Amino acid sequence: MIVVMKIGSPEAEITRISEELKSRGLTPEKIVGKHKVVIGLVGETAALDPLQIQEVSPWIEQVLRVEQPFKRASLTFRHGQASEVVVETPNGEVYFGEHHPIVVIAGPCSVENEQMIVETAQRVKAAGAKLLRGGAYKPRTSPYAFQGHGESALGLLAAAREATGLGIVTEVMDTADLDKIAEVADVVQIGARNMQNFSLLKKVGAQPKPVLLKRGMSATIEEWLMAAEYILAAGNPNVILCERGIRAFDRQYARNTLDLAVVPVLRSLTHLPIMIDPSHGTGKAEYVPAMSLAAIAAGCDSLMIEVHPNPAKALSDGPQSLPPERFDRLMQELAVIGKAVGRWAQPPVALAH
Ligand code: PEP
Ligand code: MN
Repeated sequence: MIVVMKIGSPEAEITRISEELKSRGLTPEKIVGKHKVVIGLVGETAALDPLQIQEVSPWIEQVLRVEQPFKRASLTFRHGQASEVVVETPNGEVYFGEHHPIVVIAGPCSVENEQMIVETAQRVKAAGAKLLRGGAYKPRTSPYAFQGHGESALGLLAAAREATGLGIVTEVMDTADLDKIAEVADVVQIGARNMQNFSLLKKVGAQPKPVLLKRGMSATIEEWLMAAEYILAAGNPNVILCERGIRAFDRQYARNTLDLAVVPVLRSLTHLPIMIDPSHGTGKAEYVPAMSLAAIAAGCDSLMIEVHPNPAKALSDGPQSLPPERFDRLMQELAVIGKAVGRWAQPPVALAH
């Protein structure tokens, strides 16, 4: 349920209403919008009569029910206002959200060694990426596949951060590793396979770093938003949703089915920023540019793209990784669509050749 306050409502009145609602066993959350203040209410609201709440104050404009099972994640909870996620990086603040330029995150699937991660960071930065991605702890289908270098790779990400000033996005798979990952990461990633690892969601919800929540490969949109709700309910409002492809029935040609329809669907359901990962979404480097362009045209807020200095030699996800030269070119292509939709802030980059 949400309580929409009239424009100009006195602060003391908002506090008084919140206290009154607390005494009725509800958890009020004040959301300050551009024009209006909204009080979001979580708790047993099913039996409550909105008209009774309306009577609490003449400053209340409207009391609305949030019909969906996800509350804090719903667009209604913020009365239709997009939220923004601010990521602090050494190069400055990076904003994710509907009213901000598109943010491109790029880097290898896994951190392999210092030289490759630092060089990749320099290349993607020069091309206009704002954050560097790279896995230290890798969720692999086979226990015999490369599992990531773990803690030592965190040190290498820190070196790349130091060298370039780019913010770092890296995955946490285990609650036990969260603290050391959060020391290096500017955004903590929850991978597709852990989207419903509820103890992990509660843990990342209880720490301050923004969270990138990937969609589970067989998750419905509602399950995904309920997973985001866990993080929000635990106290962390900074969640970015990342579509990375859902399980395909035809895997002969593409690794997953990149569900670009989630962009308008999520926009109608949630205020959270939307990211698209065309690399895992297709599994093939040659399909990444087309889907990146389409994602921007569809209205996404951010892209995550795998880039590797030598994809043929990559320890994981080589086939879907772009070489740096192709990423340079892609950024120029993306700028055309990004500008067309009025969401491109990156300066034009020079072609490598
Ligand atoms: C990744 O980002 O490298 C990754 C493992 O992604 P996903 O969880 O989407 O498979
Ligand atoms: Mn990968």
